[in-house]
Amino acid sequence: MNLVVVSNRVARASANEPMTGGLAAALLPVVEKSGAIWVGSSGRVRDGAQREPFAEIEELGAGALAMLDLPAAHYGGYYEGFANSALWPALHSRADLIRVSQDDYHSYREVNGFMARALMRFRKPDTSFWIQDYHFLALGAELRDLGVTQPIGFFLHTPWASPATMGCVPHNRELIEAMLAYDLIGFQTDEDCANFLSYVQSEFDFSIVDGVVTSPRGVSRCQVFPIGIDADLFAQQAQKATAHPDVSRLRKSLNGEKLVIGVDRLDYSKGLINRINAFERMLTSRPALQRSVSLLQIATPSRGTIEAYGNLQGDLARLVSDVNGRLGEADWTPIRYLNKGFRQAVLAGLYRTAQVGLVTPLQDGMNLVAKEYVAAQNPIDPGVLVLSKFAGAANELDTALLVNPHDVEGMARAIATALAMPLTERRMRWEVMMGKLRRGSVQSWFSDFIAALGQAHASGREAE
Ligand code: UDP
Repeated sequence: MNLVVVSNRVARASANEPMTGGLAAALLPVVEKSGAIWVGSSGRVRDGAQREPFAEIEELGAGALAMLDLPAAHYGGYYEGFANSALWPALHSRADLIRVSQDDYHSYREVNGFMARALMRFRKPDTSFWIQDYHFLALGAELRDLGVTQPIGFFLHTPWASPATMGCVPHNRELIEAMLAYDLIGFQTDEDCANFLSYVQSEFDFSIVDGVVTSPRGVSRCQVFPIGIDADLFAQQAQKATAHPDVSRLRKSLNGEKLVIGVDRLDYSKGLINRINAFERMLTSRPALQRSVSLLQIATPSRGTIEAYGNLQGDLARLVSDVNGRLGEADWTPIRYLNKGFRQAVLAGLYRTAQVGLVTPLQDGMNLVAKEYVAAQNPIDPGVLVLSKFAGAANELDTALLVNPHDVEGMARAIATALAMPLTERRMRWEVMMGKLRRGSVQSWFSDFIAALGQAHASGREAE
């Protein structure tokens, strides 16, 4: 297949680096098998003009990774600036956290243009381009300006917020109009897709019929493709991981206590403060549970140079230490709090050791941790998933205990219910979820998108 996949970062094939993003974890196996070329930033920057922009090309199964140094002058404005301090907060319905400086949008467009020029090296007559995520909303338009007529698709891994919230992003009208250069725009949920279409309807005078927008840029189809995981592979990994020394040591250290697990990037969208408060509330309102359960919260540092993230890291550290200080005993620590990442081969075993998986984002595109926790369970004695109804995954995993992450008391009740849930109910809920994970695999997400991209491109050309 002649496919070029583009994302901000590529996942290095070297197995020793933990991957801490849903996108990277999802794409790696499918790129390996499909023979696609996956292009993204190397994480390094470079000054001045680059005649030979690629830092490195690495084979990856049948495919390849191409890692590019981005322009130093624009990287900060693009990444920390417009992408993560304007688009990310707005997409997650936190317009109050938008912080941009004058030049950030310009840098964002410069990097999108730079990437488009770099991609020309991979263009063949039958190449299709598939652009990932909010870092590159305008990349399709840049490619079209360079004369690319081949299929170009886009998939958004995050939510898409209401028109009013997206209207808070500086230059939103120009940017969203540029997105209509894509033949196919994919979203995680029906709600995201509907929000996008209602923005287009409210701002422009373009025809919209059955999710197809016709604009001066051409014809764009908007469609939902919920991302999945390879559930059986993950289950095998989890079974194997129970023998891993890190996992055995964790089991031993529990001394018969039950374990609740949370695994997140340290991000304000993940609802970590409310989660810690809910765990504390559960312990203080049910003293019999003290000493009999602990929470292992992995909070992988992320985007630490952005003020909102730095503040959250400080607030969380203080909150956890306060709870442990007040409730802990010489031989029991209520919350085991870690600021580091784990390889999935270990993570899978940690999930399987925990009786409860706690996934309570305030907003989340999909949340792969929720899916991985389910897939990692022992079918004979599965744990219980407590899941925010504002994670995209809640659409499929509706036999989890669904919670409102703003309702601390309600979450405390749900964790206690999960800990006490009888085996028959745990199995019944788990089997329904596992069935859905098997049907919505990452392979089918990939092949459904690529098939729809081909169709959207062909029917768009007919319409012109
Ligand atoms: N992850 C990991 N090691 C860690 C923490 C997370 O490999 O220590 C992976 C996790 O397995 C999952 C991804 O990072 O595949 C997180 O994806 P999710 O959709 O839950 O959230 P995101 O970080 O993309 O917002």
